[in-house]
Amino acid sequence: MSDLFNAELHELRAQSLHRKLREIGSAQAPEVQIVGRRLVNFSSNDYLGLASDPLLCEAATAAIAEYGVGAGASRIVSGTFSPHVRLEAALAKWKGTQAALSFSSGYAAAVGTLQAIAGKNDVVLLDKLSHASLVDGAKLSGATIRVFPHNHLGKLESHLEGARRENPDGRIVIVTEAVFSTDGDRAPLRQLVGLKKRFAAVLVLDEAHSIGVIGPNGRGLAADEGLTKHVDIHIGTLGKALGASGGYVCGSRSLIDWLINRARAFIFTTAPPPALAAAAQAAIDFVSSQAGDECRLLLWQRIATLRSGLDGGVQTELDAIQAGSAIHPIVIGDEIEAVELSRALYAEGFLVPAVRYPAVAKGAARLRIAVTAAHSEKQISGLAEAVNRLRADVTLAA
Ligand SMILES: *Cc1c(COP(=O)(O)O)cnc(C)c1O
Repeated sequence: MSDLFNAELHELRAQSLHRKLREIGSAQAPEVQIVGRRLVNFSSNDYLGLASDPLLCEAATAAIAEYGVGAGASRIVSGTFSPHVRLEAALAKWKGTQAALSFSSGYAAAVGTLQAIAGKNDVVLLDKLSHASLVDGAKLSGATIRVFPHNHLGKLESHLEGARRENPDGRIVIVTEAVFSTDGDRAPLRQLVGLKKRFAAVLVLDEAHSIGVIGPNGRGLAADEGLTKHVDIHIGTLGKALGASGGYVCGSRSLIDWLINRARAFIFTTAPPPALAAAAQAAIDFVSSQAGDECRLLLWQRIATLRSGLDGGVQTELDAIQAGSAIHPIVIGDEIEAVELSRALYAEGFLVPAVRYPAVAKGAARLRIAVTAAHSEKQISGLAEAVNRLRADVTLAA
C-alpha cells in the first residue's frame, strides 16, 4: 500500500503539474506571512480586501455570540437560522431577483443547481472554459452534455439547433461564466440572452469573479448590462469579492423552492455556520453602500496601474482577450517555464501562482495576477517591473 500513487505522483512532478500546499501564517491580505517571510500577495480573489475587514469580523463575532459556531443540522432539518434567512433576503434584494438560496460553497451551489435543474432527457451546453463545479454539476444531472468553444456564439447556435431538433420538448440549459476565472474575459451576455430566447433555453450565469467588481453596487455583469431579468439562474460565491465563505443561487421563487427540494449539495450537508451568513450579509451591505462604490473605484484604479505598468507585449495580449476584470493572465504556455517564473517572482517577494492543467489546458500554463483594492500603487508597480524583467529572462532562455 505504501507506494500507492507513487508512480502517478512522479509523473505529475515530471510534468510540472504537481501541487503542494503552502502554509500562510497570517490573515488573507495584500501581504501574507509564509514560513517567516512577508510576501506581496497577488494570488487571492479577495478583490475588495474584505476577507479580514473589521466589518465582517465584527458581524461574524456577534453572530457567534448569539448562535454559536456549528449549525448542527442540514438546512432542511433544523439548520436554518435567522442569519441564513436574512442573508438570502439581502442577496435577492441586491441581485434584483425574487428569491435566493445560500450554499456552503460556490462549488456546492453550482453542482447542486445543475444536478437539480436538468435530467436525462435534457441537454446542457457548456462553455469550454466553464469552471469544474459547473462541469461536475452537469455530469451529475445525467443530461446530455455538449461543450462549445469559449465564447463561440456560432457553435453554440448550432448546438442549440441540434438539441431542439432532437428533443423538441426537452430542457436546454446554457451555462457560462460572467468573468472567466483563468482568462479574466467576459461572456457576450447580450448575444447569449438573444440565443436563449430564440431556442427557449434556460440561461445559467456564474458570476463568481464579477460580483463586487462589476456593475452597479457590484451586482455583476448581468446587472451591468441591464439583463438581470433575462438570466434565469444567477450563481455566485460569497468567498471571493464578498470576503466570506459560501455560495448562492438567485432566481425565481419556484427555482429556489425546487432547489431546496432537489439540490443534493444543499440537502445532504450540514448548514454553513450562521456566523458566516452574517459576515456575508455584512459584505453585501458594504458593497451596496457608497463606501462599496468607492472601494470598487479604487480597485479599477489599481487594475489600471497594473495594466499600464506591464510591457507593451503583455498589454497587447491582455487587450486581445479583452480582459475586463481584476484577473490578469500572463500566458506562458509551457508548464515548467510558468512554474519557474512564479518561483522567480516568489524569490523577489511576490506571490503569483502558476495556473496549470487541469485548471487550464495543457500547454496553456500562465501566471494569474489578481489585483485587489487593498494593494498599494507601489506594490503593483513593483510587481509589474518584476514581471517585465523576469518574463524577458524566461522568454530569452526558451
Ligand atoms: C471559485 C469558483 C466557484 C466556486 O466557488 P467557491 O465558493 O470557491 O466554492 C464556482 N464557479 C466559479 C466560476 C469559480 O471561479
